[in-house]
Amino acid sequence: YTQAKALVFSKNGEPSDVLQLHTYSISPSLSSKSVLLRSLAAPVNPADINTIQGTYGAQPSFTSLIGTPSPSAIAGNEGVFEVLATGDPASPIRKGDWVIPAVAQFGTWRTHAVAELDQVLKINKEGLRATQAATISVNPSTAYRILRAYGPSTGISTGLGMRPLEVGSGEWFIQNGANSGVGRAAIQLGKLWGLRSINVVRERSSPEETEALRAELVGLGADVVVTEAQFLSRQWKDQLADITNNGREQIGLGLNCVGGKSATALARSLSEGASMVSYGGMAKQPVALPVGLLIFKDIRFVGFWLSRWNQQDVTGRRHMIDYIADLIREGKFRDVPLDEVAWNWDTDISTLAQEVQGGLQGFRSGKGIFVF
Ligand code: NDP
Repeated sequence: YTQAKALVFSKNGEPSDVLQLHTYSISPSLSSKSVLLRSLAAPVNPADINTIQGTYGAQPSFTSLIGTPSPSAIAGNEGVFEVLATGDPASPIRKGDWVIPAVAQFGTWRTHAVAELDQVLKINKEGLRATQAATISVNPSTAYRILRAYGPSTGISTGLGMRPLEVGSGEWFIQNGANSGVGRAAIQLGKLWGLRSINVVRERSSPEETEALRAELVGLGADVVVTEAQFLSRQWKDQLADITNNGREQIGLGLNCVGGKSATALARSLSEGASMVSYGGMAKQPVALPVGLLIFKDIRFVGFWLSRWNQQDVTGRRHMIDYIADLIREGKFRDVPLDEVAWNWDTDISTLAQEVQGGLQGFRSGKGIFVF
């Protein structure tokens, strides 16, 4: 028997209140379609916390599968595992391989797992660190999908469609939350694909730190980095005119991670017929849209949910993950700063729950990630 531990919740609430560390044992007999996995790394993404709080768009079902006193769900959606054993010796997935979840709500915050073969996706581990493999499938994939699928209107005669920004064209996009995992991925993919980006970040506690962050994002490929204060100020309109050659260069796409005032300012920065894609709501404020932008500028406002894309385009997802993994191997795509928390057999619940609870606080030095 394999002894395992998992971070579980049996009701919604704040992570520090509802998360529990459950110990259980895994039987050595595996069905022919299943694999025994050992966790290597699993990040703490904002969606994981929202899922525990009960505010996310999908909820895992509470079960008694791992013998918790009350039915529960294992938290965590993203991570990478090493295959310890397979039920079928001829299985396409072998001992020693690395796999990531193929399905949403996999429950990655646990030391070990038994999974069906179709619940996991093999990933070529060569040249990848576990923390890199563990963070490919959510943030970089979101940036990839948005940049590849959304952009300016193709005109009313074409049925109100939109086209993606054109690779190699130098077309602009603008985003808030640019220091987020998704934002940093968008900067890098945008640069690789010959697009230009305007990036809004929040001020740090000193001008030096703000400048350091600006320099870091420029190092990743950001063309313009502005602080939120600048972005929300009266001067922004003129600055934007300078950046875009008095509006002659169009901004066909906006990526909204934040909501609230920042989203309104983002919408106002877009060119006629542009699309604003909302994928996050970090400020927990609704998006207010001036009607004039809808009517006179024909701006399209849409939402994006990676889970939906993953379900509807399984093959595309596979290619996208391989593509991003290749970029990482080739040194063309840099990790987000990570705050690694070692999870070993003796790590207690308060250490783990604290890491999760801190995950939604801003101004962090890095994204929390459990390393096993
Ligand atoms: P990270 O944990 O990497 O970063 C969070 C970012 O949010 C930080 O850059 C932080 O800015 C910013 N932030 C936090 N609080 C606020 C606030 N009050 N106002 C403005 N900015 C704030 O996040 P991820 O990249 O993992 O995720 C970012 C967002 O994208 C989340 O809302 C997440 O749920 C969403 N998301 C959505 C997906 C989808 O399919 N729709 C898929 C993936 C992510 P600072 O650096 O200044 O602290």
